[in-house]
Amino acid sequence: MLLIKIIPMKNVNAYGTPAADAMLGPLSIERRTVGPHDVQIEILFCGVCHSDIHQARNEWGGSIFPMVPGHEIVGRITAVGDHVKDFKVGELAGVGCLVDSCRTCVACAAGEEQFCDNGMVGTYNSKGKDGLPTYGGYSTLIVVDEKFTLHVSDKLDLAGVAPLLCAGITTYSPLRHWKIGKGHKVAVVGLGGLGHMGVKFAVAFGADVTVLSTSASKEADAKQLGAHHFAVTKDAAVMKGLAGHFDFILNTVSANHDYNEYLQLLSMNGTMVVVGVPEKPSTVGAFNLIGKRRSLAGSLIGGIRETQEMLDFCAEHNIVSDIEIIKMSEINEAYERILRSDVRYRFVIDMASLK
Ligand code: NAP
Ligand code: ZN
Ligand code: ZN
Repeated sequence: MLLIKIIPMKNVNAYGTPAADAMLGPLSIERRTVGPHDVQIEILFCGVCHSDIHQARNEWGGSIFPMVPGHEIVGRITAVGDHVKDFKVGELAGVGCLVDSCRTCVACAAGEEQFCDNGMVGTYNSKGKDGLPTYGGYSTLIVVDEKFTLHVSDKLDLAGVAPLLCAGITTYSPLRHWKIGKGHKVAVVGLGGLGHMGVKFAVAFGADVTVLSTSASKEADAKQLGAHHFAVTKDAAVMKGLAGHFDFILNTVSANHDYNEYLQLLSMNGTMVVVGVPEKPSTVGAFNLIGKRRSLAGSLIGGIRETQEMLDFCAEHNIVSDIEIIKMSEINEAYERILRSDVRYRFVIDMASLK
């Protein structure tokens, strides 16, 4: 006999897209009602990540439509399940890029659920363990298991906290993993959402930080963010002068580009960590690696434990994202501005505009 579990649902206002070549517009989605281990959050702000654009336009392949993007979610808890002990109604909470994982594999046991051997469940563009598609933060309400819910300090500007849930942890995690700090010469390539958080963290950890940018107009901002140096990557002479200079490069570039240009800037034993995910692969010349025993590595967001550590670090050091608040209806224009590298430095949607 086939047993079908009926999960009670409720309708929620959202904004999303029916297809890769369509604009985003209003949608109604269903959220599950609160289970024993669930936290229900009224979404107040949601950041706009470049990954939202890559996925909404199916640039990485395999996108699930209709899609409601958004994985930089902050809001207020409006209900909790009977077994939830750590979260209370009325508190602030956050949700990042993942909402579930197998919880038993080596990666999950190590608190690195983003690398779950059985596949993490993404906050959107993914399928939950119930087989239903997940929908992200461009919506007024979300229901998430307590293990994937984050505590958010009420000391910080809440809208500025939202981007920490992806841009923050994605840059914090590799800087911590490679133990970046005092005495390291660090370059952050690309001053966008991820890049500006990378600068703030690398500076907070004590490194000597250079921003490598295609936009000469961002120099003053880079210095304001705490960077010690700034260089325009389109200037061949400047790039030549920086050859062999950096111990560590955090590459946040979203568009197709040549990794070799940046690998040449690493010193002996230097590492370039790629966090940007361009549509097309880049080939790497072996000489650029063997010449100075350089490493090319990658990093994917961060686990729940480290995301909470990062949020606590930000509360302690008064770190938030530099943001521009938009209305939900301005999202299509915001995407175009992000693609022109015209964002200073993260768009955050005020979800009151969707009610
Ligand atoms: P973003 O705000 O658009 O920033 C990307 C920056 O890259 C731009 O501001 C620009 O900075 C630079 N750039 C753009 N086109 C370039 C080109 N042709 N050559 C060199 N630099 C260029 O995007 P984001 O939200 O920070 O995301 C960046 C990338 O990280 C995206 O691909 C996103 O999908 C990915 N991502 C990865 C993870 C992960 O876990 N690994 C997590 C989140 C996002 P300048 O004007 O300074 O040159
Ligand atoms: Zn993201
Ligand atoms: Zn797992």
